[in-house]
Order: sequence, then C-alpha cells, then structure tokens
Amino acid sequence: MIKAPLFISLLAMTGIIAVRYLAASCFFAWVTSKIRPGQYSKQSKQIRKEIYWSLMSAAIYGIPAGFVGWGWQHHGWTQIYEDFSAMPLWYAPLSILLYLLAHDTWFYWTHRWMHQPKWFRIAHAVHHESRPPTAWAAMSFHPIEAVTGAIVIPLLVFIIPIHVGMLGIVLAIMTIMGVTNHMGWELFPRWLVHGQLGKWVITASHHERHHQAYNCNYGLYFRHWDRLCGTDQGLGDWAKKRVGRSSAA
Ligand SMILES: [Zn+2]
Ligand SMILES: [Zn+2]
Repeated sequence: MIKAPLFISLLAMTGIIAVRYLAASCFFAWVTSKIRPGQYSKQSKQIRKEIYWSLMSAAIYGIPAGFVGWGWQHHGWTQIYEDFSAMPLWYAPLSILLYLLAHDTWFYWTHRWMHQPKWFRIAHAVHHESRPPTAWAAMSFHPIEAVTGAIVIPLLVFIIPIHVGMLGIVLAIMTIMGVTNHMGWELFPRWLVHGQLGKWVITASHHERHHQAYNCNYGLYFRHWDRLCGTDQGLGDWAKKRVGRSSAA
C-alpha cells in the first residue's frame, strides 16, 4: 500500500470526491437528456450554481476523509479491514446496511435541525435554491451543511467495522442515490417505488416532495424516521411539478 503524506492524502481525497461527483452527475444528466430531452433546458444558471457549491463541498468532504485515510494508512486507525477472514462473511452485507442506517439517522436529525428557520437561512437555503433540483444538485450544500455531511463516514469507520470493498459499495450507493434523488424524474421501476419496498426506501419520488413542500420527507435512504416522527408525506406529484415549472418559466 502506498503511504502518502497527509497533505497529499487531503488533496487526493478532495480530487477523488470532486471527480466522483462530476462523473456521476455528468452521467445522469446525460441519461436525463436522452430520456427527458429538455428537462433542464431553462436551468443552466441554476446548474452552474449547483456545480459551484458541489465542488466547494468536495473540498470540505476531502478534509476529514483525507485525514482519516492518512491515519488508516500510517497508524492503523479505524475499523476498516482488508482481509475478508477478519470478520464472519455474513457480516459484510450487514455492515453495508449498518452504515446506511447510521448515515440515514444522522442525516434525518441534522436535516430537521437545519429546517429550523434560523439555521435554514444560514446553512440549508443553498440546497433549496435548486427549484426543482437537477442531477448536478447532489452536493449543492452551504459549507456548514457540507461539514455535517463530511464527518459522518469518517466517524463511522472508527465505530463500525467494515471491509474496504464494502465501504466502496456504501460510497457508491451514497453517490448514486444523492444524484438520482435530485435529478427530477424517477429512475426506479413503479413496482419498487409504489410497492412494499418503496414504503421503506427513499428514491427521487420521495425526496422530490421534500424539495416541493420543505416541511416533510427529511430522510436520506429510508423512510422509518419520517414515518415514526410523522414527517412522511408520501411521494411527490411529478405531474404537478411539471405544470408548476412550465408556468414559472
Ligand atoms: Zn435535496
Ligand atoms: Zn431540506
């Protein structure tokens, strides 16, 4: 394993996170242009802002990630393991679920906190400037919100053991869901979104309603916190959204 100095590790993580964001958003924006031509035709100014804030967020995300990655390489910090035999094999998929549940819990409560009027203006209004959001809005956060997001996985790797490959899967899910939940149309099939799984798992239809109504649907991956706390208002109304956009344009 190459042991990079701290400065290189910080820079490398920032670069990886920025490239990951650009690649995922670019890909899904391209898919959108094929499936929904003209979907973002009146949003180029908004998209520029989304890219600006997202790249700022990448730089913020790179600091704790680079620091913990450096500590892992140089000092053996964290509970990340590389040999599958270090834990029972059944634990590998369970660890993915544990990370998603923990991240979702953190996100739900910090997100609700940022919807208090004072904090909304300071930390979260940037994210809601995307009306409606596009495939480029996945990391469009004010730096304060970016800090709350940036520290989650670097903290969890100290608490919950995970194989390095499973961590890669968690980060891939985080990236893909972050982009697709904002891209303005539903990627997943009807049977999933409107079926039993869709009652518990969040996709674009659910998060879109958060961007329409603000005071509901705060979750990230799962709906249980919203359902437990009475903040779940079901799926967004895509047809109504499209009417709203054409009348606003
Ligand atoms: Zn959002
Ligand atoms: Zn919000």
